Amino acid sequence: MRKESTSLSVPIESGLFPDEDNRSAVPLPEGRYQAISQRHLDRIPMLSELSEDERFAIRVVSSVLPFRTNRYVNDNLIDWDKVPKDPVYQLVFPQRAMLSDDDFQTVADHILRGSPDHEISRIAAEIRNNLNPHPAGQLEFNIPKIDGEAVNGLQHKYRETVLFFPSHGQTCHAYCTFCFRWAQFVGDSKMRIAASQNSGLHRYLASHPDISDLLVTGGDPMIMRTSWLERILRPFIGNRMLEHIQNIRIGTKALTFWPHRFVGDQDADELLRLLEDLVDAGKHVAIMAHFNHGQELRTEVVRDAIRRIRDTGAEIRCQAPLLAHINDCPAIWSRMWEKQVRLGMVPYYMFVERDTGARHYFEVPLARGWEIYAEAVRQVSGLGRTVRGPSMSATPGKVEVLGIQEIHGEKVFVLRFLQGRNPEWVAKPFFAKFDPAATWFDHLKPALGQSKFFFEDEFRAMTGNKIALAA
Ligand SMILES: *Cc1c(COP(=O)(O)O)cnc(C)c1O
Ligand code: SF4
Repeated sequence: MRKESTSLSVPIESGLFPDEDNRSAVPLPEGRYQAISQRHLDRIPMLSELSEDERFAIRVVSSVLPFRTNRYVNDNLIDWDKVPKDPVYQLVFPQRAMLSDDDFQTVADHILRGSPDHEISRIAAEIRNNLNPHPAGQLEFNIPKIDGEAVNGLQHKYRETVLFFPSHGQTCHAYCTFCFRWAQFVGDSKMRIAASQNSGLHRYLASHPDISDLLVTGGDPMIMRTSWLERILRPFIGNRMLEHIQNIRIGTKALTFWPHRFVGDQDADELLRLLEDLVDAGKHVAIMAHFNHGQELRTEVVRDAIRRIRDTGAEIRCQAPLLAHINDCPAIWSRMWEKQVRLGMVPYYMFVERDTGARHYFEVPLARGWEIYAEAVRQVSGLGRTVRGPSMSATPGKVEVLGIQEIHGEKVFVLRFLQGRNPEWVAKPFFAKFDPAATWFDHLKPALGQSKFFFEDEFRAMTGNKIALAA
């Protein structure tokens, strides 16, 4: 269904099930990446344990939402005797309840009726359009310009940090079922904000001395060959024009989905050398690792990968969304943070699941989210309390739920910006009416007799201007 990029660090199509039609094909060796997608469903031995209904449900849902796993994940990270409750199974395998009953039935009927593929794709696209594929004004407001010209593949929302989406990094070694970037994996061209060239990035950064951080993101940039990463990152070494870029972050889930990227892949050593050269050039290099559950940290190869990254002098900071069915329990978080600290990583963010895709399946009320955070953080050492959250990446900024309080008889959420479109907003506590069912920022109303939030007028002016500019 999807066209694969040709520059993946691993030959996804060619390396996978080499004898496509032979069910007894000899599996590739452990260290070779093998993607598993919808068309391999019948050939995953462990899935034969599931009921016919469950397997059909996977087929239906994966016609609508992106689905990809791989041999490493299936063989090492999932406890198949706990399926379907296993958290990593929930992380990569589509579940029936991820679609509404109506949508599920529509697609199921077409599959059972034997409708042609293009018909099923058309219906799937319609359903996807109703799942808010482009949350939080990502496309409208944050694309920077050089000389009035939009720079593709860049997002500049917060003063000190630029996000870069290289076009070769717009896929992942497996797909998370809750992913908020899911639209780009199903070939939605509106989501294609990716850059096919790096020159715009370097020019934009060189002309903005107030930017200190570059965050390379995706998809997963670690899907790229090292040579592509070098073209993006080597220019930061010994370049006076880019000296103000202090911190280079790379967002990735490869430590979960393909830790061999840092260990046995053919260009793993070059990747580590690149990180080391950046560190030696005085940059702070941070791998922003995405871990949802401690189970993702249990293999020897992920521990090797962590050790090898840390040996380069790069830091690993950990972040993840809070998700029903995967990690909505304090003990999961506290054990995961402890494990991360023990392995030399730094817990960084707990996110609130965004308002897109199958969010109804994964969402956790903000009130419960805060309780989970609070209970979990109380159980770990101060070294694990570097983590902040639960945090919502909303259009005005990253909003953290600091707590729930009663002020003069009114129950409120205490909130603060961790990041704001205006840096002046950051760190000021503000209040919203307590609402036990609220799951996202747009459900919140000002509290304590206020008619609007303190930033509202300014925010409206900002976005209003942006819309006028774009029109
Ligand atoms: C989270 C985020 C950042 C980085 O924020 P930090 O608080 O510095 O980690 C930058 N840009 C965008 C758009 C973000 O969502
Ligand atoms: S690794 Fe990140 S970008 Fe890729 S599917 Fe998971 S959440 Fe989405």
